[in-house]
Amino acid sequence: MSTRADRLAELLSERELDCLLVSDLTNVRYLTGFTGTNGAAVVSADERLFLTDFRYVERAAAEVREFERLPAGRELLKDLAPRLSGRAGFDDEHLSVRAHRRLADALSEGVELVPAGGLVERLREVKDEAEVTAMAEAAKLGDSIYEYLVERGLVGRTEREVAVDLEREMRLRGARDPSFPSIVAAGANGALPHAEPRDVEIPRDTLVVLDLGCVVDSMCSDCTRTVATGEPSSEALEVYELVRRAQAAALEAARVGIPCRDVDAAARSLIEGAGHGERFGHGLGHGVGLEVHEGPRLTKTAEGELRAGNAVTIEPGVYVPGEVGVRIEDLVIVGEDGLRNLSGFPKALVTVG
Ligand code: ZN
Ligand code: ZN
Repeated sequence: MSTRADRLAELLSERELDCLLVSDLTNVRYLTGFTGTNGAAVVSADERLFLTDFRYVERAAAEVREFERLPAGRELLKDLAPRLSGRAGFDDEHLSVRAHRRLADALSEGVELVPAGGLVERLREVKDEAEVTAMAEAAKLGDSIYEYLVERGLVGRTEREVAVDLEREMRLRGARDPSFPSIVAAGANGALPHAEPRDVEIPRDTLVVLDLGCVVDSMCSDCTRTVATGEPSSEALEVYELVRRAQAAALEAARVGIPCRDVDAAARSLIEGAGHGERFGHGLGHGVGLEVHEGPRLTKTAEGELRAGNAVTIEPGVYVPGEVGVRIEDLVIVGEDGLRNLSGFPKALVTVG
């Protein structure tokens, strides 16, 4: 069985790199299993090196199995530089200019630093079975939080009270953390795609956008539902139905091999057709994994196509400024034999008292 580091080594030869320095902590964690806050790795065709400082030596001994572990000072790059050779790729999206300069100063003769960001991220886009299992569990926990919300109710509570309550409940039910600060946004506040929960009571007869996720075994989930508190206006209900149809159309379109931008278009064309194109100001979806936002992106201008093993959200929204917002988001796994939708809470409009 090839390890993640083996697959990375294959990508290196495609890029004509002799080794890759991995310094971004999420990427280090993905490759090595290390969960501390100071670690770096070097991967080449025949070497797997891992460095951390004295604070994490014991943790690394327990977590990092497939890499040779080397002791280092807190400034890992200084100790790591002599281990680089030939054309050495580095993560240009994550390494600061200052760190790059220090690294360059400590290199051996003849070593060339080559920008090579995105290689580990590319591997991370395709999930393995264990990752999918963890994400499915995280999504299921998220579903149970929505059910809890229906029992607890919304009307008369503030957005912030509800958000705090939902996150506490996530932890009680086994999530390590929320994947991101939960969104609870009623009425016109729901028209801001990244609304922050306010100290404002949620009224009757409006729509409320809720966006939440859980972290289970380091993997994130992400799910948005828009619910009603009583009887919203007919305009609000129309927008809801439009977003629901657009979301269904994108789910229908998503499959292995389809260009990412075409999945976005499947939802966007319906929303544009209804005259709300300008009110769907974000991309259709994004990859989810160790981080809640990763590749691939499903946007109007996205390059590339969906691959088997991608875990992406499908989340169209329509935001009518000053009035109402609707977003519906599922987390799906793209497979050779179709989509597996991890989000189970109903999408027919649910009323929460
Ligand atoms: Zn979300
Ligand atoms: Zn999302």
